Amino acid sequence: MEIVTIPCLQDNFAYLLICPKTGDAAVVDPSEADPVRKEIKRQNVKLTAILNTHHHWDHVGGNKELKADCPDLKIYGHASDRGRIPEQTEFLEDGDQVLFGEQSGSFLHNPGHTSGAITYLFGKTAFTGDTLFAAGCGRLFEGTPEQMHDSLNNRIGKLPDRTELYFGHEYTENNLRFALSVEVGNTEINKKLADVKVLRSSGKFSTPTTIAEEKQTNPFLRCTSAEIKAAVKSRDPDNDLTEKEVFRMLRELKDVF
Ligand SMILES: [Zn+2]
Repeated sequence: MEIVTIPCLQDNFAYLLICPKTGDAAVVDPSEADPVRKEIKRQNVKLTAILNTHHHWDHVGGNKELKADCPDLKIYGHASDRGRIPEQTEFLEDGDQVLFGEQSGSFLHNPGHTSGAITYLFGKTAFTGDTLFAAGCGRLFEGTPEQMHDSLNNRIGKLPDRTELYFGHEYTENNLRFALSVEVGNTEINKKLADVKVLRSSGKFSTPTTIAEEKQTNPFLRCTSAEIKAAVKSRDPDNDLTEKEVFRMLRELKDVF
């Protein structure tokens, strides 16, 4: 399966997935239709599916127009997002497959950013939407810190280390700065920040990342780190923080970073 990153709006990513056997394509989170249309034309492929990771407007904004272009389009989203994802036709429940061309994928339900948030899985690639970003995670609009901690650490975080994670926004540089502010001694964060600065200054993007890199640099996957715990503890010095409390306080700190 070939993957093409399509920058949309200010800092969103849509991804075009191409089945090399049939020339069919699926698009993950089309924020807007035009950049997706252009890439479909450039690649000379046939769009047969939209894969929405959640219902936010900047992830589904192109659904209607793309559906008008291709009336047979299948539009995937979580079953609980019925009525919130425009033109949705496939309502995913645990165990369901995600199909286009000769490609078959699966999904993880990872509530926290929204209640219907999912990650799509195709072999060693995952599309995490606004749940996991490189060195960060989405805001908690509809979930509790406990849910998001579970989604990140016990669901996405349990994927194999080599899994490539394609995320929804180019927030990496700022996320790494925050990561460094709570874990100054983490040399992997410093290294990645330097690499991302070079990438960005040459107009390139920081997507994808990998599970292995995230385990080393993403504070939301590192709540057992003594240094991170010490960094948040000053906010609640009398409490011997659990891992989930560290997570909650980290997320609160990031909200105002
Ligand atoms: Zn979102």
